[in-house]
Amino acid sequence: MQQNFDVIIVGAGISGLYTALNLDPKLRVLLLSKKSLVLSNSASAQGGVAAVLEGSADSTDSHFNDSLIAGGFKNNTEALKILVTQGPRDVRRLMDFGVAFDRNPDGSFDLELEGGHSHPRILHHQDATGREITAKLIAAVELSRNITVWENAMVCGLKQVQNGFSLDILRNEEDHVAAGCYACVLATGGIGRVYEHTTNSAAATGDGILLASGAGAKLRHMSWVQFHPTGFNDGRRECLLIPEAVRGAGAVLLNAERQQFLSHYDPRAELAPRDVVSKAMVEEGRRLGDSRFYLDFTGAEEAYAREHFPTTFARLAESGIAMTEDMIPVCPCQHYLMGGIDVDLNGESSVDNLYAVGECAHTGVHGSNRLAGNSMLEDLVFAHQIADEISRRAENQGRPVLGEFHFCEEELGGPVPKGFRTEVRALMQKSYFVIPDPVRVVDSFERIREMRSVLEKGKYRVDRDYMEAKALVNVAYLILKEVL
Ligand SMILES: Cc1cc2nc3c(=O)[nH]c(=O)nc-3n(C[C@H](O)[C@H](O)[C@H](O)COP(=O)(O)OP(=O)(O)OC[C@H]3O[C@@H](n4cnc5c(N)ncnc54)[C@H](O)[C@@H]3O)c2cc1C
Repeated sequence: MQQNFDVIIVGAGISGLYTALNLDPKLRVLLLSKKSLVLSNSASAQGGVAAVLEGSADSTDSHFNDSLIAGGFKNNTEALKILVTQGPRDVRRLMDFGVAFDRNPDGSFDLELEGGHSHPRILHHQDATGREITAKLIAAVELSRNITVWENAMVCGLKQVQNGFSLDILRNEEDHVAAGCYACVLATGGIGRVYEHTTNSAAATGDGILLASGAGAKLRHMSWVQFHPTGFNDGRRECLLIPEAVRGAGAVLLNAERQQFLSHYDPRAELAPRDVVSKAMVEEGRRLGDSRFYLDFTGAEEAYAREHFPTTFARLAESGIAMTEDMIPVCPCQHYLMGGIDVDLNGESSVDNLYAVGECAHTGVHGSNRLAGNSMLEDLVFAHQIADEISRRAENQGRPVLGEFHFCEEELGGPVPKGFRTEVRALMQKSYFVIPDPVRVVDSFERIREMRSVLEKGKYRVDRDYMEAKALVNVAYLILKEVL
């Protein structure tokens, strides 16, 4: 039996939560999270949100220009204008939900400076801003009677039906249930798990991109992948991110010979945008034949580091690194996808009433490289745009009547063979990481094409393993196809 809602939001990071909270409370909303509500890229975000609040000596024009420069002037300027001008309203609204941004003793905001920004404009909560925002938004969602939340509910299929969509949802790894809606919002986050080294959470497997393309939605700039220069290099797949604000606070990057080198590659040195720094690291590693890099924060007081970067300080200490005494080993790692499901200024994809928001969406605000702090801002601003648009349509056009479709993916066979995800990660890591290798891209694409065909034609049980293998192979296929 299919359960019907007005709106189904697939994903409960900042984008999904904030969309739900801004919809007209008369609408019945289902909010889905494929794992626990606290596992998302949003919850891991450390640095903060970029915004120019009223009364500041900074300006939205400067924020706009910095975003354009970082984005290689490939940004959608209309969308970017909306981002920088409406962002302050949404950041204020976060405070209404109880989000506490750090303040100076005089009550003003303690604004951080991060790479690529010409003014300090990052509002933050220590170095755990995403955790603070998601916690407060989850609390608000729990109080909202129109929003039903299903955790451990993974969407495995999305089908357009008369007047709306039908979704196949795998609950608690076991039961497939069908749910219908007339407006569907994909807020499924990033694709980091397509790489061996990433800052992204385990949920970041690009599911929304698979669902959207299956429904016929257009995708754009899938090869615009961002690599962060300072993942803590302790050999784990999910790298602890050392925030750029640490460089903003005076940390310097050293090569294997323990020398500063960034000024040879860019005059902004430590404060250059992250793509510039990541590329400089790869080139410097090649020049020296040694890819070891260190972040040196020994110029800072321990008390300062503890107070400003408590999460980073504690996580490094757990690994035996004293943040202001030791050299911190770092490496570039996958961090963010600028491309994704192509949407208009109201967040609607090329399929009517199918919306996308946050990291899975391509609004064009970031151009080919995202400026620090602009991601959470994009989550908020475009979630608000979508919520307003859906609410407006419901008000003007009424709610379409949904039929009963009982759509669930067919259970075709046994479990998908192991190894797809590991192989795709290895292929992406060696062929399309920071500076793509044109020869390896060709070979990897051929292999990924084969894997894609096996997964599409094979008869497998529709479970988490199958869905994630299919989503990751699909993402790798789309990225490499674009650069061939
Ligand atoms: C370590 C780290 C630090 C960062 N620091 C910053 C920062 O300082 N400033 C900044 O602006 N940005 C930062 N970012 C980027 C930013 O956090 C993310 O881009 C943004 O929060 C993404 O939000 P989202 O809501 O789109 O996706 P996410 O927060 O990743 O949420 C995705 C949601 O989708 C759900 N989902 C996925 N697939 C399915 C499915 N098939 N069915 C059901 N649910 C599904 C997941 O369970 C999850 O709830 C950081 C990212 C990381 C990883």
